Amino acid sequence: MIIVFVGAPGSGKGTHARRTAERCGLRHVSTGDLLRDAVERKTDVGLRAKEYMDAGKLVPDEVMMDLVSELLDSREGGDGVVFDGFPRTLAQAEGLDRLLAERGLKVDKAMLVDISEDEAVERMALRISCPKCGAVYNLKSNPPGVEGVCDKCGGKLEVRSDDREETVRDRFKEFRRQTQPVIDYYRDRGILASVRTSGPVDEVARKVAAALDGCGDAGGTSEGA
Ligand code: AMP
Repeated sequence: MIIVFVGAPGSGKGTHARRTAERCGLRHVSTGDLLRDAVERKTDVGLRAKEYMDAGKLVPDEVMMDLVSELLDSREGGDGVVFDGFPRTLAQAEGLDRLLAERGLKVDKAMLVDISEDEAVERMALRISCPKCGAVYNLKSNPPGVEGVCDKCGGKLEVRSDDREETVRDRFKEFRRQTQPVIDYYRDRGILASVRTSGPVDEVARKVAAALDGCGDAGGTSEGA
């Protein structure tokens, strides 16, 4: 089972992708987390990705395909994957299909987590995350138990450099330009589900589960939930 989560910055796609992976027993793969880890460790991919990430721009497709190809080869945690933040361009969507086909797999469902730009900017201002384990908190709706400390791993929480308002607005522009064709691609193939991400996180999580028919294994589409 392969599910891809698509969503603008601040949409909560990370939270819902993670929850879906836990609920369905699939591996959660966030390309943003993988890249941040690579930047921190100063690997070849990290060095190639850093300037784009700092500028709120997408990392080039070749770098992303190298990263994902390697990840699929590792097969650590089995073949079932929830992709979080990948693919983000049409070339990545087509590339992913090719990589999966070579391994006898396919994308079963694409989940669009939808949000307006102003709502996203407001949300990001309240967001802090753990660079160590990737956990994300909201100072208003989901604060950590101890200020500045990750509940899950004890890491030191911080505001990501790409969560500042100006960068968020740049990332939104980039999202519309680059990722809208990905949404259209999955819609045309009849595997797109979509949920508006307003309201309490548990309520949105229930809508996501319903839109995926549990784990995304039933056919049909469920747009507009
Ligand atoms: P995220 O945590 O998913 O918001 O990603 C953070 C940053 O990592 C993005 O702003 C991009 O610079 C980069 N990134 C993550 N996933 C991708 C992708 N699929 N394609 C290109 N860049 C990506």
